[in-house]
Parts: sequence; structure tokens; C-alpha cells
Amino acid sequence: MLVTKIFTFDAAHQLTNYYGKCERVHGHTYTLEVTLEGDVHSNGMVIDFVLLKRIVKRQVLERLDHHFLNDVLENPSAERLAVWIWDQLSDLSNHLKDELNDPNMAEEIRKLLEDEDADVDTSDLNKTLRLHEVVLWETPTSKVVYNGQ
Ligand SMILES: [Zn+2]
Repeated sequence: MLVTKIFTFDAAHQLTNYYGKCERVHGHTYTLEVTLEGDVHSNGMVIDFVLLKRIVKRQVLERLDHHFLNDVLENPSAERLAVWIWDQLSDLSNHLKDELNDPNMAEEIRKLLEDEDADVDTSDLNKTLRLHEVVLWETPTSKVVYNGQ
């Protein structure tokens, strides 16, 4: 099942190697949709929305909201920004490990995270919960979709 949480943030940017008004510094209110794919766990949830929100806030929004995006990544087009956001979130098991104290984490996920050795790959967790897609709206009529490729 797919689970999506939607966020907005404000940021300024300036496109380089671009000819037109977007070469000047300007701002957008971006809308970000983060979708996870996974099993419905024993608590009835793929992931608690509150938990997903906390991870996206920490990994993405605190680094982008009210920032000058050119300080964060080079030539921050919507496409490049979506890839950057994907990269911040794709190591989901580590981000979930920071949330082990959350009582609403599904027991199956908690068990996988607690058993997992640092050197072991995350394939077991990926089978039950993974990042599926990032959709970034730069304007109400312009969006990019990235799923890791
Ligand atoms: Zn722009």
C-alpha cells in the first residue's frame, strides 16, 4: 500500500546556465509529496503519519525551508532538488532508528531495526517499508516526480 504525506516550504533560488527571468533570485512556495510503500503492519498502519512527518521535517524541511537553495545544492532546479530530497530520505532504516522511542512504530519494524547489525543490508526492512516516490511542485502547475531513477 502507498502512504503519502504532503508538505509545503518556502525557499529562494536562482538557476544558473539559464536564460530568462529564473536566472534572477526569486522564491517559490514548494509543495512536497513523500510516498512510502509497504505492508499494513500489525498496528493497522504502513507507517504512522506523525512519524513520517517528523522524519521529513528533520531530514528535508529544516534544511530547505526559508533557505537559499543555491547554498544547499548547485543549480537547484526542481529536478535536481527532487533528487536531493530523495537522497536525504532514501536511507529510511537509519531515519527510523532515530525514532525507536516512538510508541507508534509497528512492532515488526522495531524488531527488524533492533535486530539489524550495522553491517547487514536493509533488504528485510525494504521488503516491508521503503521510499516509493518524491513529487515536488515548484508552482501549482509545475511538478517533477522522482522514484530513484
Ligand atoms: Zn524558480
